[in-house]
Amino acid sequence: MRGWRNSLSGRTHRVPANQIAMAGFAAVVELVPRPGHLLSNQVAYEVEASYAEQEYQPDEAVTGEVQITTSEPLVGRVRVVAIDEATGLRVYRELFSVRFRRAGTKRIPFTIVPTPAPNNSYRVVATLFSLDAPHDRTRLAKATTEFSVHAAETPIAPLPFWLSYCADPTCGGQPPLAVNVCPETNPSCSPSRQTTVVPLLDGRQINQVLFPIQNPNGTGVTATLVSGSGSVIGSLVLSRTSPVILKSDVDVTLSYYNVSPVWGGTTNLEFVSVTLTSAEVVTTVYRHPTFLVNDEVTQLHEQSREIISGESQIAGIDPGQMHAIFMPSEFATLGEGNFSTGNLNIFMNYANPPYIDALGSIYAVVMPRFAHEYVHELFSEVAQSHPGNYDCLNEGLADAFAFAAGFLPEQDFGPVGLRGTDFNQGCAAITQDPEIHDAGNCPFWQVHRLGQLSQSFVASVLSPQHVIAFDSCNLTSAQTGNALIVLFSEAAGVDMTQAIDMAEIPNAGSYEAAKQALGL
Ligand SMILES: [Zn+2]
Repeated sequence: MRGWRNSLSGRTHRVPANQIAMAGFAAVVELVPRPGHLLSNQVAYEVEASYAEQEYQPDEAVTGEVQITTSEPLVGRVRVVAIDEATGLRVYRELFSVRFRRAGTKRIPFTIVPTPAPNNSYRVVATLFSLDAPHDRTRLAKATTEFSVHAAETPIAPLPFWLSYCADPTCGGQPPLAVNVCPETNPSCSPSRQTTVVPLLDGRQINQVLFPIQNPNGTGVTATLVSGSGSVIGSLVLSRTSPVILKSDVDVTLSYYNVSPVWGGTTNLEFVSVTLTSAEVVTTVYRHPTFLVNDEVTQLHEQSREIISGESQIAGIDPGQMHAIFMPSEFATLGEGNFSTGNLNIFMNYANPPYIDALGSIYAVVMPRFAHEYVHELFSEVAQSHPGNYDCLNEGLADAFAFAAGFLPEQDFGPVGLRGTDFNQGCAAITQDPEIHDAGNCPFWQVHRLGQLSQSFVASVLSPQHVIAFDSCNLTSAQTGNALIVLFSEAAGVDMTQAIDMAEIPNAGSYEAAKQALGL
């Protein structure tokens, strides 16, 4: 064996970083044979080791191939070892026999089992030995290559349009929201302890947060806004910046998940996301790590799919694959946190554990609202069929449609409006101070009272025969009354003047008269 080292001209080919994901990279070592060992001066051996990939996920089988090329007949063995580059320990060793009757190339596949531990790099060395004589094991060629195994980097979860990730811990250099917490009995106290509250999604700081300050000891606390952009309502902190500097000598907990502050340090309000994909919808659910730990995320995704396919089928409209985000109260820093962009995005606020307990389930909280928001997505596809101010028609249809489709409970539709109006008494009361959902729902509620609010009815109102310009929020206008008579009558297939009379909206008195008044 003496002298073999000099006979190797090992040219170790390392994988350049920018090629790391490229498949089929081969490390090549060429051998200059040991003088005298081989009969011919022209003989060359070549070993290549290559991998399907250079990067592997944990538990993914690491597979590769050693390619042996010889210009001579050869009986030999290939030894393949994998070495952990951090520890220098060998994590895999295998011997393969090779037999060449003549010059040629052979490929030897191999699989490294068990999969090496993640977050490490591994060096693989394939060495070709000659076995021409039983005791003359001569190293003929060697090839080296590398692969790494690492945990998948968490993909960056989408955020609703009102939130963004912070590029730095000050989140763009805005002053943090400062809040003092004092006992109710001493609301102007000067707390001596403070913590920096950082809201995080998948470990990335976000720029806004909403959280309650809770006192597990039951005694009342008062929170006061000291400075910064945001507000404090009762014990609820709404911060338009991040982080939040909270001072308190009371042992409060933060958020609906009772996070204990790290006094004199940083308190992470950590949330994690899960994304599930289907043809109908890409669903992302944010949750506190302690919450929604069973099959709730899958259920939210599956129920979203069911609502999308059900309502899309009733409407005969397919806007395309939706993107839905389900978030806890902590992320709902804009409005109620329920939005449809009309552009394939739906944002849903599933509230918080106490609210969910009060309503019975997360699905009861959020899925009827999702069914409502998805109707807005359908509406936006045909908005050109509803010229004029369609805001109230859009809101009314969103509830009426979701109700007719079986995805929204009746009490969410009527008869009691958001402002407490009883739709069974007509809609005149709404005209004093119209609220868009109430002004929208009330005329549809009259259709329901008349037993005409079917799935085909709501689909026909969504995609009407006649395109009529009217202000759907003006329930004192005869133009509105006549437009609704035409839309509702053509959708129901019967004269629906009675519904508009019950809604107390001025009108021409019949379907024919309404058409005439509108010049149709
Ligand atoms: Zn709406």
